[in-house]
Amino acid sequence: MRQPVRGFRRRRGGGLPGGRLGIIVIGLIGLAVYYVSNQETNPYSGSKDFNTISIEKASQLGQQSYVQMLAQEGGNVVCGGSVCGGEDRQLYTAVNEIGERLRVAAIAMERDYLAAGYKFTPVASKFDWTFNVIASQQPNAFCLPGGYVAVYTGILDVTGNGDGRVDISDIADVDKLAVVMGHEIGHALAHHGAKRMSNGQLVQLGSVAVSLGLGDMSASQQMMARQAMGMAAQGGLMAFSRSHETEADKIGLELLVRACYDPREAPQLWERMGRLGGGQRPPEWMSTHPASQTRADNFRAWMPDAIAMYEQNCGALR
Ligand SMILES: [Zn+2]
Repeated sequence: MRQPVRGFRRRRGGGLPGGRLGIIVIGLIGLAVYYVSNQETNPYSGSKDFNTISIEKASQLGQQSYVQMLAQEGGNVVCGGSVCGGEDRQLYTAVNEIGERLRVAAIAMERDYLAAGYKFTPVASKFDWTFNVIASQQPNAFCLPGGYVAVYTGILDVTGNGDGRVDISDIADVDKLAVVMGHEIGHALAHHGAKRMSNGQLVQLGSVAVSLGLGDMSASQQMMARQAMGMAAQGGLMAFSRSHETEADKIGLELLVRACYDPREAPQLWERMGRLGGGQRPPEWMSTHPASQTRADNFRAWMPDAIAMYEQNCGALR
């Protein structure tokens, strides 16, 4: 039994370039088949994405990181302790009230898309919706798979009166905060986290296939091949993130009007967010967001439908 193995090793070691190329080609064809057979259609934008992570698995991972994050934040979790009153209580309540309205809107939205014949697995009624506020300078917010939402107080001034300080007056008008939360929830409803992970794994598998075929190249050639592959993967993943941002904007806008928040606040808010990048460094979650012009154009295109839906459900906009 040992002989053929040695023989195989010898052939591989002395390998012809054609053999190496064969390995790469077979590996990449295998990946292409895997990619094509694991496509998931997003009912909201019609786009197809590669996803190999189940809703249950993604939610489980979402919960794990949420628990970890809350534990790390410790005393910064607003109303996380036993005493909770005053402004803390008001902030916590405002975020939870918006969250509840968006949750109800998400369930209704999925129900309506299913009724209209779109094929997808609804998740909003199964998510373990949880809304927390984190006292932090960071202008950040997210919704992890499974419906685990965090709003950092650093974002409240941006969604509030923009006077440079975070206080209770920032939640006097909550429409802009609802824009941000709707967008983040949009990411979770469209399984963007799972899709990003799936694509990251695909890139890793692809580089394994390429590495297996690199044996006969010189060290510098190998490095160049790996760099080229890395840049292509990076470019692909960035474009992928931007398309997810646009999807989350669209889903967020629909949730907003279904929950009777003023949709006209959305473009101004993202403009304000875009300006954040001017003086200070943009937060990480913004860096892959679409250019503000594209974003403004999108909202302009979507707005007539959004306003019509608002007025149908919630009465005339003033
Ligand atoms: Zn986003």
